[in-house]
Amino acid sequence: MLNVPPQAFPGPSSQQRAAAGGRGKVPLKPGRSLMDWIRLTKSGKDLTGLKGRLMEVTEDELAKHNKKEDCWICIRGFVYNVTPYMEYHPGGEDELMKAAGTDGTDLFDQVHRWVNYESMLKECLVGRMSAKPIAAPKEISTLSEEKKQLNGMVPEKKAQAASAKDLIPSYDWFQTDSLITIVIYTKQKGMNAELVIADCQDKRLRGEIIMDDHSYLVEVDLDHPVQEDMAVNIAEKVGKVEITLKKKDNIHWKMLGQPLESHNTFKKCTDRGLFYRKCKLVSKTEVTHDTKLFCLMLPKSTHLHVPKGRHVYLKQIIAGTEIVKPYTPVLPFLPLNFKEPSHHEGACIYLMIKIYSCGLFTQALDHLQIGDYISVSNPEGNFKKTQIQTSEDVFLLAAGTGFTPMVKLLDFALSEVSCLRTLKLIFFNKTEDDILWRNQLEELALKDKRFEVQFILSQPTKDWLGKQGKISSSLLSEFVKRSKKDSKVLICICGPTPFTEQGVQYLKDLGYSQEEIHAFTA
Ligand code: FAD
Ligand code: NAD
Repeated sequence: MLNVPPQAFPGPSSQQRAAAGGRGKVPLKPGRSLMDWIRLTKSGKDLTGLKGRLMEVTEDELAKHNKKEDCWICIRGFVYNVTPYMEYHPGGEDELMKAAGTDGTDLFDQVHRWVNYESMLKECLVGRMSAKPIAAPKEISTLSEEKKQLNGMVPEKKAQAASAKDLIPSYDWFQTDSLITIVIYTKQKGMNAELVIADCQDKRLRGEIIMDDHSYLVEVDLDHPVQEDMAVNIAEKVGKVEITLKKKDNIHWKMLGQPLESHNTFKKCTDRGLFYRKCKLVSKTEVTHDTKLFCLMLPKSTHLHVPKGRHVYLKQIIAGTEIVKPYTPVLPFLPLNFKEPSHHEGACIYLMIKIYSCGLFTQALDHLQIGDYISVSNPEGNFKKTQIQTSEDVFLLAAGTGFTPMVKLLDFALSEVSCLRTLKLIFFNKTEDDILWRNQLEELALKDKRFEVQFILSQPTKDWLGKQGKISSSLLSEFVKRSKKDSKVLICICGPTPFTEQGVQYLKDLGYSQEEIHAFTA
């Protein structure tokens, strides 16, 4: 069993109480932590008030339960009595009450669709909606209608379909004695490795193509077993993606396999559930007294490159409940040698994680042994590479582990943004010992004249000669300055929620526009 601290947490003064996952606003009362909730759900108490019965819920019935002391919410067609959960909700009762007596699916998806509510709220399940589920996932297109068997032929009907559909990808497949190749025609130029996510687990193949905020999915239960290896080739100019698998037995396949539920669909990314694969912990190295660099190896049959500025979710079962938390992949080290191609992230994902002494998830993470496995999701987030590509002055405001998204941005800006004139990292920490990769940052600043780093401590010792304080308007006006009157600026900010919110406000007060600021949040 994983080590779960017995005391109530987050601690009363902890920032995490006020902002679980970087979102919530309301401090939780003592004894109302996630772990306390898990304990309550395991206590055998009747949390729905229905004595174990499940019922069909009409819209009228749902609407009646719209008070704090009697609150039902529908998520994806299932109704939960969230009354007992009110005080445990990190976002506060008011947030939960916004969906009281109604379908909260959209609200839930906007705020934290990554939270495994099925597991968290399983003891609160009242039943299903009797009418068809409200706000069922909006499918833009299900292309797999008449495909009982995947023979790779695009039905004629589809070839004649409306022009919008002509932009939707299609797929085909072919085989040699030893290989199976699935070809996806994305009909879009500029495909790259970050836009293709492919996994083959046992006989299940899942190939996803990301196209702006939409995704095309090939998902098949293969006809025959394949080997663990997978190769992905991308013809960028013609937008063709090839996923090649090695047959286990050199026999002729009559078909590719059986289509799975989401096969051959084109949907908004937010309408797809998170997909996880198990990754092996291959190393765990100390970065500071409380922060470690975890190296997770992807399976050989996974193709996944986490784009800069995006995070993944890690999932662990803690005390019998699935817990999910977001983390932002970094590089194994800073870009101290620009001559090397930036290929750092191949088969491994590096995560720099602060271990909190009372942290539910990070304590369990810290107890993972080399060789253990942990589930890692597909990437999420809304940072777009184009935001930084044309910037002349880039400012990175990071607090604590809010440094993590800045690592790949630093690398990208210095190695690939040709118009870059200045890159400044303003790094807020409590003490000197908390500064992540201080030596590397200082070395980088010596190496590249465009890069400058400024450390600002909120709890320095007497010996600290550098800047002190927390984020403020005066600190920002001192450090964030355009190198030319009209230079194109990007300011990225990440850290504890109050830090990020205050920072954004100060920057706006200083005259920076919304487009010039990117705040990293959940
Ligand atoms: P919890 O059980 O939630 O908190 C328990 C205790 O931990 C608290 O009482 C408190 O003592 C302490 N604590 C937790 N968080 C804080 C805090 N922010 N400030 C002060 N005390 C705190 N974290 C990383 O380390 N690396 C990352 O790359 C990273 N990426 C993230 C990306 C996103 C998009 C978001 C929203 C968050 C990210 N986080 C990252 C934070 C991470 O998701 C967890 O919130 C964090 O690891 C704490 O989880 P926990 O379950 O251990 O702590
Ligand atoms: P910390 O508690 O060690 O604080 C670091 C610095 O942040 C402090 O020195 C101070 O300058 C500033 N700070 C802290 N609380 C503040 C407040 N209330 N108001 C103004 N400034 C404040 O930080 P940590 O424990 O490393 O936490 C890092 C935070 O960054 C976590 O909350 C984590 O969730 C968040 N994070 C978010 C993302 C993301 O959204 N993409 C990525 C990584 C980390």
